[in-house]
Amino acid sequence: MPKQKLIVFDIDGTLYRSDDYERELHKEIVELLAEKLGCSTEEVKAKLRALRKETPSISWCLIKLGINLKEFYEELARRANPSKYIREAKDVKALLGKLKEAGFKLAAHTNSGRALALKVLGALGINPSMFDIMVTSDDAEPKPSPDGYLKILGLAGITAEEAVYVGDRYDVDLKPAKELGIRTVIVGKGITPKDVDFKVENILEIEDLFLKTQG
Ligand SMILES: [Mg+2]
Repeated sequence: MPKQKLIVFDIDGTLYRSDDYERELHKEIVELLAEKLGCSTEEVKAKLRALRKETPSISWCLIKLGINLKEFYEELARRANPSKYIREAKDVKALLGKLKEAGFKLAAHTNSGRALALKVLGALGINPSMFDIMVTSDDAEPKPSPDGYLKILGLAGITAEEAVYVGDRYDVDLKPAKELGIRTVIVGKGITPKDVDFKVENILEIEDLFLKTQG
């Protein structure tokens, strides 16, 4: 990989993977939505199923349902308990440390609210100060909007060509990055979409990508 200066990480599904937490969080989201919209959880699920056809992002589903995203995520953060499901990730923490030492700026970019993102990082044992920049849906329009990407590039003071984006979802994380000219790394086991630049099965493999191939 040519000399990149900034590595942007999606958090959920990228820095860690927990199907149990994902399930639990989805359940909390459905319950909270049912309270906010004054309908049953079954009705909420039907609404989400319909909206998911228009957008792959749950945050955008919430916006389309007229939900105040900031308030919603703050309440969700109070209810959710990620540390019950997500284990400390010393190896990921060490990896981020090595990347910083090698001179990369690091950013975290999530569609979650800031309070919940901080709780998840806490469960992982990753100090948020590891990230030079953190953009959540409290700070910018959620992905796949280009808003957060541009905000990160602006804050870092670098061009799209100098950045690389690491994420687990093509439509939500990587397609918008690609459209802005940011290089992309997909994390996960599925099929690699054609225009993704690099693929790793596990986040730890990016060490080779960034630290062993640079001159
Ligand atoms: Mg993700």
